Amino acid sequence: MSLVELSLQDAKVLVVGGGMSGVASAVLAASNGADVLLIDSGEPEYVNKNSDLLSESGVQVSLGCDSVDSLDDYDLVLPSPGVSVHNSPVLGEAIARGLECQSEVEFAIRMFPHERLIGVTGTNGKTTVTELIVHLLSHSGVPAVKAGNIGTPLSDVLAGVDPDTWVVCELSSFQLALTEVFAPKIGVFLNFGEDHMDWHSDMTDYFESKMTMFQAMNADSHAILSFDDPAVRGVAERIPARITYFSASNSKTVDGLSCDGNRMSGRIDGAPVNWEVDGMSLTGHHNMLNAAAAFAAALRAGAAPKDLASALSRFNGLPHRVETVSSVNNVTYINDSKATNPHATAAALAGLDRPVVLLLGGRNKGMDFSDLASIAADCRAILCFGESGEEICSSMNLERSEVLSGMREAVYRAAELAEEGDIVLMSPACASFDQFSGYAERGEVFKNIVAELEGAPARSGS
Ligand code: ADP
Repeated sequence: MSLVELSLQDAKVLVVGGGMSGVASAVLAASNGADVLLIDSGEPEYVNKNSDLLSESGVQVSLGCDSVDSLDDYDLVLPSPGVSVHNSPVLGEAIARGLECQSEVEFAIRMFPHERLIGVTGTNGKTTVTELIVHLLSHSGVPAVKAGNIGTPLSDVLAGVDPDTWVVCELSSFQLALTEVFAPKIGVFLNFGEDHMDWHSDMTDYFESKMTMFQAMNADSHAILSFDDPAVRGVAERIPARITYFSASNSKTVDGLSCDGNRMSGRIDGAPVNWEVDGMSLTGHHNMLNAAAAFAAALRAGAAPKDLASALSRFNGLPHRVETVSSVNNVTYINDSKATNPHATAAALAGLDRPVVLLLGGRNKGMDFSDLASIAADCRAILCFGESGEEICSSMNLERSEVLSGMREAVYRAAELAEEGDIVLMSPACASFDQFSGYAERGEVFKNIVAELEGAPARSGS
């Protein structure tokens, strides 16, 4: 039976992974008449919190379990985003046996087809651009809501949304793996760099999982692509949609937009455009790209340029993304805890024009730090902490790189090494799970330590 034709009434559905998306898929499948088993190899808190909902919906739950009897009896397997063939033997086996396997976003769009869908993907900037598109559309009188990786499973949003509302869905490569018909009306591909090498088999697998949704688009849809990232620009001819580029420099030859902080300009449908944007609070080269990408997406969704320009100047950046914390003894402390890969840290460094003491480290996701080592070679110092501290420190080409036992030690050491006018940038290029519950906690810990420095006596001579 084809995936599209599958009826859930009395179908046997296996949900693998009990996070937010897994619970949403399980409840949705069960409420449509399926016989659902949710398994998780751990004891996820989210399942326990939702145990009433799961049992009222008739979902059977099995925790501490990573296999099932009679796998062939299942009509549909729905893996959670954190689950891959590398960490789930049952998913690997289901794929090998040719069972229907769909990611949560694929399942959601099949259950609730929705025309006004914007998909945002890329290695970095997804959350910023998703929030920005929703902000731009809402402030231009075009209804929009966010969904996906940003926090609410797509199926939960689509279940209650009005057909006129644009659903702006942040999509990680994990969510795009195992999709087939999932195709947004507007798709944004921000950039591509190394990440998640602990999940994907290689860079090609990572890239191609992002490409699936673009290849499923059609001639009435719009792909918004980075002109400056060769990996992204190079796929234009593989995408059966209308292409609009975004770039740091104004291109006169293709449809596209660029932003310099004061204006948004370029060419749309062959005609030159030039709109003034006053008082943007987003800064840095990468945010100019994010702004141009979001503006192009919102324009293609039907918003008026004048409204978009005024809404853009009212958007404040998000916490933990190149967020200025404070200045202590004339040294500026910046929290970029959401930089969980070297590509994001490189973008943060590129946007700074003063000497930097860089704090790096955490859990390495199988990545190579040699490019970042060259980019960071003119830092005043590099201080490495966390599980991968030693390893990262040895890959840095800088005499002044040191290993510190933790964040506190690294921040205090940075305060000693930084000179007046310098920046201390905590942009760790690694996941946070070695020492923190997530990037947000890591960022808050950094901010609290900086607040302690504010209360400490000034350094002699400053
Ligand atoms: P994502 O949701 O893709 O992880 P975020 O918007 O949360 O992206 O930002 C994650 C990190 O990437 C932050 O450190 C941020 O400063 C950096 N970043 C944001 N936009 C870009 C971009 N266009 N290119 C490179 N890095 C970026």
